Amino acid sequence: MTILELTGVHRTHGSGETEVHALRGITLTIAAGELVAVMGPSGSGKSTLLNLAGGLDRPSQGTVRVEGTELGGCGRRALAALRRRRIGYVFQDLNLLASLTAAENVALPLELDGMGRRKAARLAGAALSEVDLAGYDARFPDEMSGGQQQRVAIARALIGDRRLILADEPTGALDSQTGETVLRLLRSKVDEGAAGVLVTHDARHAAWADRVVFLRDGVIVDTAGPLAEPDELLNTPGVAR
Ligand code: ADP
Ligand code: MG
Repeated sequence: MTILELTGVHRTHGSGETEVHALRGITLTIAAGELVAVMGPSGSGKSTLLNLAGGLDRPSQGTVRVEGTELGGCGRRALAALRRRRIGYVFQDLNLLASLTAAENVALPLELDGMGRRKAARLAGAALSEVDLAGYDARFPDEMSGGQQQRVAIARALIGDRRLILADEPTGALDSQTGETVLRLLRSKVDEGAAGVLVTHDARHAAWADRVVFLRDGVIVDTAGPLAEPDELLNTPGVAR
């Protein structure tokens, strides 16, 4: 079953002399159970692609469908509900709310969706345990290390019945072992039937994906199957950083 479908997607930022054509005709389909890594140099359009897939931005041309729903046809309310229920997003900057505890941050999407506070808190506590943060429920973000905050953000992205997980360099602030934990969680959520998109610079992380898509100047220049060895990347054109 197809979860994410981008068809002929263009995105232009700005206009006139400062116009940037960030994406130039992207067509990409991702099925349930599939994790796709997106790699490419800085400025190649990776974050723009993720923002479009998550309904945070709209294409200048082309269509984005999530579980068959064309995002362009959704009003703001419908889009917000879809993002809250079906799409999990891990941003480069974590976007944790400083005035909420770790558990409250994780529970937020469930509560916004109408779940009772107590049940949401219980599920949030369980989700924190899964990212090795058992007992951290009552901590505020500024009482946690960067790596711990990142794991809270992952727990929030994976909680509930999400079908599309979008992660923009989610292991950026993490040591390699915690990074592994995060990738394993992402992988198992996908194995349970979600679709995932992982933006990464690291070939070892891309090796967790079923497919790797290489972006350059807003175009998909190459697609590889699962990477057996990180060294494979060295022989792939278009991925120089
Ligand atoms: P990546 O994530 O691969 O580094 P981005 O998707 O962030 O790339 O950016 C792709 C291109 O679009 C870059 O040239 C960037 O400067 C430009 N861009 C991204 N967002 C905006 C924006 N809001 N306004 C203007 N230009 C933007
Ligand atoms: Mg980016």
